[in-house]
Amino acid sequence: MTARVLVVDDMPANVKLLEARLQAEYFETVSAFSGEDALGICERERIDVVLLDVMMPGMDGFEVCQRIKKQPSTQDIPVIMVTALDQPQDKLHGLEAGADDFLTKPVDDIALITRVKNLARLKVLNDEMKLRASTGDQLGLSAVSPDNSLQHGVDGRVLVVEDQLRAGNRIVRALEPLHAASVETDTTAALEALLDGAFDVAVVSLNLSDVDALRLCSQLRSHETTRHLPIIMLVDSGDEARLLRGLDLGVNDYLMRPIDRSEMLARVRTQVRRKRHSDFLRNRLVKSVELSVIDPLTGLHNRRYLESHLETLIARAFQTNGHLAVVVTDIDHFKSINDTYGHDAGDRILQQFSERLKQNTRGADLACRFGGEEFVLVLPDSNLEAAYQIAERMRADIAAQPFEIDNQTQVPITTSLGLAILEFDDDTPASLFKRADNALYVAKQAGRNRVMADAA
Ligand code: GH3
Ligand code: MG
Ligand code: MG
Repeated sequence: MTARVLVVDDMPANVKLLEARLQAEYFETVSAFSGEDALGICERERIDVVLLDVMMPGMDGFEVCQRIKKQPSTQDIPVIMVTALDQPQDKLHGLEAGADDFLTKPVDDIALITRVKNLARLKVLNDEMKLRASTGDQLGLSAVSPDNSLQHGVDGRVLVVEDQLRAGNRIVRALEPLHAASVETDTTAALEALLDGAFDVAVVSLNLSDVDALRLCSQLRSHETTRHLPIIMLVDSGDEARLLRGLDLGVNDYLMRPIDRSEMLARVRTQVRRKRHSDFLRNRLVKSVELSVIDPLTGLHNRRYLESHLETLIARAFQTNGHLAVVVTDIDHFKSINDTYGHDAGDRILQQFSERLKQNTRGADLACRFGGEEFVLVLPDSNLEAAYQIAERMRADIAAQPFEIDNQTQVPITTSLGLAILEFDDDTPASLFKRADNALYVAKQAGRNRVMADAA
């Protein structure tokens, strides 16, 4: 990930030092030596993270931060405040000014890179969401547009894994005004609770007495449900080696003991936001993929899905017993239904027709709406006899029970079916469709309401 980091400090030597460390990790850097310059750069250029010195002559860091967060065009840029170690109240002021995280001078390398990485990642997700939200609106996907609750990062569900109950409770009390937090002293129970998916963030003590906390972290990373769960480690100073192991394992962030409340609130907020952003994007992806392969009228898969999936099914059939059948079915004289009862009535018939197709297929069979009043069934593992039976059963079922136009009106419907099986080494979706379609044509010519198999 190449993020652009703006380094703001009135002392050129400090700027140089921070830039050198960031560049060593392949971040792009931009520098500013005053608050005014920093604001101008944020407005004009793409900046992903701001590293902001608190103590500057003229406009100080708090004011710069406030202005960045007030201006709509810059408010999504994450700000890391660089404060003096002996001024703990600076962090509180920073939080009030809207700072996203903190670093204390002299700036520690691991802290610098971890903070910048986390916030740069959040910024990328945030940009992506804004982009999706605007194209989503154009595609009529606005029902799943991000709402404001995604932005604030409050009301997170936080599990604190700490075997010292009193220490754990102190953390919970510190988080409670903003989040729903609870403690778990037993790691096995903690793992289970987290795997249930009921939490947004795990805060894990690195020095549990009976078990290796890093093992818990690595277990969380390897399970499907918690692969993306944000983890914040609680680390004792002097335990840097294990901290680095944790970061390597994919732990997202950490807090050094003694825990500074402002830092903890900032870090938990960032991770809650990150989790919500990425959940949102993932759900949206699943949703848009579904939308593009499902026919909205009938809920069956559409032609696009069928064509790509049939290729996979053919390949699998060649690897196994070689059996696969395709049935193309087209409703007889459907135009007259529309002409007599109207297009909406026609739509309702298509929906009922689809329901019957679904009822008459097994789990492995694939029923699709190919277009108009034409449907396709793909029957894996079916030879000619088996497929013929299924198609014939389908035909009889459609013809046996009239369809409902409304409460008073029922109409009989029939359908014609053409069937083809996988026969040639060079068969493709197109060649199978073509043979099934030819058979369908013969069925229509022969008087409709019948099944014809391709005689290749
Ligand atoms: P055949 O037995 O030869 O198949 O006759 P047919 O009338 O079914 O065939 P034709 O292809 O002439 O007409 C198909 C009709 O299906 C025409 C079209 O208006 C209707 N149709 C296609 N898609 C839809 C749809 O989504 N909803 C409705 N209500 N009608 C549709
Ligand atoms: Mg028809
Ligand atoms: Mg037709």
